[in-house]
Order: sequence, then structure tokens, then C-alpha cells
Amino acid sequence: MLHAERKPNAGYEAAPRSVVILGATGSIGKSTADIIADSNGALRVAAVAGGRDPTGLARVARDLGAEFAALADESGYAELKQALAGTGIKAAAGRAAVIEAALHPAEIVMAAIVGTAGVEPTFAALAAGRSVALANKECLVCAGSAFVRQAAALGTRLLPVDSEHNAVFQALGGADPETVEKIVLTASGGPFRTWTAQAIAKASPEQALQHPNWSMGPKVTIDSAGLMNKGLELIEAHHLFGMEAERLEVLVHPQSIVHGLVAFRDGAVSAGLAAPDMRVPIAHCLFYPQRPKTMARRFDLAEIGQLNFERPDSARFPALRLARDCLKHGHGLPTVLNAANEVAVEAFLGRRISFGDIARLAERCCDVAVREGLSREPQSVEDALAVDHMGRERAHALLAELAASGMLTIH
Ligand code: NAD
Ligand code: MG
Repeated sequence: MLHAERKPNAGYEAAPRSVVILGATGSIGKSTADIIADSNGALRVAAVAGGRDPTGLARVARDLGAEFAALADESGYAELKQALAGTGIKAAAGRAAVIEAALHPAEIVMAAIVGTAGVEPTFAALAAGRSVALANKECLVCAGSAFVRQAAALGTRLLPVDSEHNAVFQALGGADPETVEKIVLTASGGPFRTWTAQAIAKASPEQALQHPNWSMGPKVTIDSAGLMNKGLELIEAHHLFGMEAERLEVLVHPQSIVHGLVAFRDGAVSAGLAAPDMRVPIAHCLFYPQRPKTMARRFDLAEIGQLNFERPDSARFPALRLARDCLKHGHGLPTVLNAANEVAVEAFLGRRISFGDIARLAERCCDVAVREGLSREPQSVEDALAVDHMGRERAHALLAELAASGMLTIH
């Protein structure tokens, strides 16, 4: 269970804190780079890793003065090496190189790879005793038990970067978990908050990529549009805060100012507020438990005037109900959901399925997994990745069936 440490008189560290950024060329990676560049030397970058953009990775490595840059895509190695020639920054490529970056000597690792691809390198960092600032929620949805157990065994910090979980972490303020009645995560409602079910089902990738409040990578933006993101976040909260599904709630809040709430058993409620700017939780995690001044956006409640809240509509957003069902079912079903969702989002972005098919495909894969007797919570990362592989196979088989039948949507 995650609780803030109480260090009221902690002084600032004299030596810079060294950071590894996994997913350095992405949206969270760039916001992390902003915070580091603005830290007056309090933070320094040891290593960076990225997926398939050698030029972008070389740029961030040079700009931040990293010692090591690792690209997952081996075919980009020559370009990365060329772009780093003469800088003294070591270049490497391939899956093992990304893990090497995760293990590069540093105090904290920003885990901001998107999807299940982040599980192995993030777990490697955690197992090596690094503090982990966790943006990659899929790590916990896929292999939550293994991550939480590893962090507890070594006493390492798993700090939540996801804005809702970071707000909850701050609102908890080290309180005894026994005193917490429920945790509430807010959701902006995304671009389809007021749309009819029929219109949502037919939405295009361009429409789904138009998030009203946040600028994020494509996968999490699509997840947000269907509230699958909030479903994955319920599972993430379950692991981070040791809270069962019944004590986790979702509230739609279109202004994205209140990110998370903690309701205590005496009726008091603490909330975490911030502008919708990921640099707030990123800085909180990177400097934790210190709190220096940062350039993150501020907000003015009088100017905003109104904060609205409404219950989520699971009839129009079935992914949220599906994720909650998977969390309640347990036994590896969240791992299957995560895998099938990743395949479905990619198929939607490739215009092979409709928006409505994303939740339908994920649900069908979960049904198949339950029928086939998926009955064990994955205890290790290897176990979880085996279940993930099975979930992906089911999802691809279903997509192939769909293509062969000439149908445009899943029925
Ligand atoms: P993004 O698509 O913008 O960036 C993803 C990064 O991962 C890129 O640097 C990409 O090169 C890298 N990557 C992909 N595959 C890789 C691999 N195999 N090895 C190494 N690197 C690889 O995504 P993002 O929006 O920055 O999101 C990153 C993670 O943070 C996701 O899990 C997302 O759910 C989570 N998150 C993002 C936000 C946000 O505001 N963007 C908010 C909360 C949580
Ligand atoms: Mg979030």
C-alpha cells in the first residue's frame, strides 16, 4: 500500500538526483525533459530509451546530456549512432538495450513507455532497487501483483505519475488505510462525453484523438475517449492503494481540475487539485518527497467559476464496466483485458475496426479466457506476459475472423 512519507523538515539534496527516462520521445517523456531542464541542475539525466525514433531519441539524449541512449527498434541503430557521433553518448538498440538503460546507474526511473512493452524494463528497474515514477499504467494492469510484491520486498518506491493516482497519493497524505472509506478517480469524459451511443460506436480515429483537456500519446488518448483508460486506472488504483473494487469510484468531471478524492470514514474528504498539466505529477514524483518550485501550469478557481461532476454512463461507455468486471473477477482477467485492448486500439487506429468494436473485441477475448478456464492470478512477470501473449492471440484470431467474414463490426 502506498502512503506518503512524512518528512516535514526535509532539506533539499545537495547532489543532483539522476534520472533514467524510459519512453523519452513520448508525451510524458517530453514533459519529464521540461521538468529536468528547468530544475537548475537538481535533476540530471543518466540514460534515455525510446521505441522507433532514432533522431528524436538522439536529440533528447544530447539536449539533456545523457550518458546512454537505447532504441528498441534495432533497425534504427545506425541512424542513432550517427546522430550521436562525437557526443560521447553511448548508443545501443534492441530489447536488451532498453533493459540496459533501465538498469543504468540512477536514483529514479521514469517509466513512460506505452503499453505492455514497458513491463520488462520497468520491472527490471524496480527489481534492481530503483525508485520508479510510474506513468506506464499497463505495467500494473498486466502484472500488478508482481510489481507491488517486488516493491514491498525491497522497500522501493513505486510513485504514481498518472494524474488521478498522484492526486490520491497526495490526498492520502500518509493516512492509515483503515481510515479510508473510498477512493474516487475523476475522468474528463473525453471527446464523446455528450455523444449518443450510436455516434460513439461510429467515431473516427480523428474524432477519438481530439481530447478536450489533455495532450497525450495516441494509445492513452483512444483509451480515454471510451473510458477504457478510467477502467485501466481502477485496476491501477487497486494495486497502488490496496483497495478492492467496491471502494473505488469514478466521477466524470469535465474541467479536469480535481483529479482524485479520498473519502475518510469520519466523513471528511481530501481532494487533489491541479491544472491539467502532467508536469505537476511528474515533478512531484521526480523530486519526492521534496517540493521545489516548478514551471507547471497554475489555475484560478474564480476564473474557472464552476466545477461540474456527474456519474459515468456505462451504457454509453461499456469499457468502464468491462474493466470493473475484470478487476472483480481477478485471476488474470485484467491481463487479458489489457492485451486485447492494446490489439484493438491498434486495429482501430489502422481503420480495421470501429470505435465500438474496441470494447466488444476486449469483452469477447475476456469471455473466451474465462471459458477456457483462466483461473490463476499471474504471480510473476513471466506468468503475466504468458497470459498477455494468450490474450493477444485471441484478439488477433478474432480480428482475422472478422476480416474473413467481411463484416465491418463485431456482433
Ligand atoms: P507516447 O506514445 O507519447 O510515448 C510512448 C513512448 O514509449 C515513446 O517514447 C516511444 O518511443 C516509447 N516506446 C514505445 N515502445 C517502446 C519499446 N518497446 N521500448 C522502448 N520505448 C518504447 O505515450 P505517452 O502519452 O507518453 O504515454 C506513456 C505512458 O504513460 C502510457 O502508459 C500512458 O498510459 C501513460 N500516461 C500518459 C499520460 C499522458 O498525459 N500522456 C498520462 C497518464 C498516463
Ligand atoms: Mg490518468
